[in-house]
Amino acid sequence: MKTIRLHPGKERSLLRRHPWVFASSIAKGSADSGETVRVESHEGQFLAWAAFSPSSQIRLRVWSFDVAQRIDADFFAATLHAAIERRRALGLDLTACRLVHGESDGLPGCIIDRYADIVVLQAGSAGIERWKATLVGALRTLLPEVRLYERSDASVREREGLSPSAGWLHGEGSTQVEISENGLRLMVDVATGHKTGFYLDQRDARVRFAELVRSHGVQRVLNCFSYTGGFTLAALAGGAQQVVSVDSSAPALALAAQHVALNGFDPARTTFVDADVNATLRRLRNEGVQFDAIVLDPPKFASTPQQVERAAPAYKDINRLAFHLLPPGGWLFTFSCSGGVSGDLFQKIVSGAALDAGADAQIIARTGAGLDHPLTLHFPEGDYLKGLLLRRS
Ligand code: SAH
Repeated sequence: MKTIRLHPGKERSLLRRHPWVFASSIAKGSADSGETVRVESHEGQFLAWAAFSPSSQIRLRVWSFDVAQRIDADFFAATLHAAIERRRALGLDLTACRLVHGESDGLPGCIIDRYADIVVLQAGSAGIERWKATLVGALRTLLPEVRLYERSDASVREREGLSPSAGWLHGEGSTQVEISENGLRLMVDVATGHKTGFYLDQRDARVRFAELVRSHGVQRVLNCFSYTGGFTLAALAGGAQQVVSVDSSAPALALAAQHVALNGFDPARTTFVDADVNATLRRLRNEGVQFDAIVLDPPKFASTPQQVERAAPAYKDINRLAFHLLPPGGWLFTFSCSGGVSGDLFQKIVSGAALDAGADAQIIARTGAGLDHPLTLHFPEGDYLKGLLLRRS
């Protein structure tokens, strides 16, 4: 077993059970891509067992802080089992569910999502790549009834020095399956969909939005960055009469339109706009159009704290434009899924946007990802998705 020794004082974050060590903290030692190493303080005290990522700034990702823990097939089987059982115990619907949420489930860099009978694995770190066959074996034992598909094509792989990899790991056939969310039918294509196919992390927000539309009799909804229409369906289910969905992906919008029909809603209640959101918001403002509720769920504008400077004005711009389209009493459900943008900062940005638009608003709720995206106390980076439900005064 190779040993990695840290610079003096650099053991502090591991002692607080944070699972990452940056390259600059390492004094001595090296290993192969994904190899398990023993991590020691400068004084030689055991700190953790970790996976080595030679080409990433996040050089070490911790498997265990327990000196007695062996990192082997049993460890991965037990960790996977625990992740699935935690969700079962919370009463989550395991057929449309994130089963493993990386660091927060003790498997740094590992995403596992389930859609109906397909389980999708995304290996985003050298350590997970190295143990991939073991994880697949464990998944097949724990969930013998499912097919397994790999979507290790996220850009984070590049930073880990890994090339993209996608395709069937077990089973075959159509990559499109139907899932159910809040009583709504949705098609997910695990081969062509974004991320692993669908944005499971917004489930609770979509449920809340449907309730809001219903309880307040919201009629006109603008769903920006609609993807395959998750919030569109929620608005229709809540009784909205006019729902405009904007996205720059034509295939996503085509599927959104199919979803409207699949769920038996009248297509006349919907409009799909294949365009840039920013440009569309400007056009609608210039035309003087108003909506009773607007959803802004943009893609990640900043994945690292260094990119925040560029992301902040982009968030501000769309939120400012949205305020222009809301009458007093109108609702804005606005999100950031940028890990580098904290909840505090996001609120500041949206506050600045409201000021610029000459609007005031109250925070009715703060939302985050659902319980299948757990947050651990020691890993604040896991809290990437922030939502503000606002009502314009
Ligand atoms: N709200 C969705 C998820 C949104 S993901 C849900 O609940 O499922 C972000 C979406 O923004 C993607 O579908 C992507 O195609 C779209 N997108 C990214 N940049 C865009 C832009 N500039 N204008 C319009 N859509 C954009």
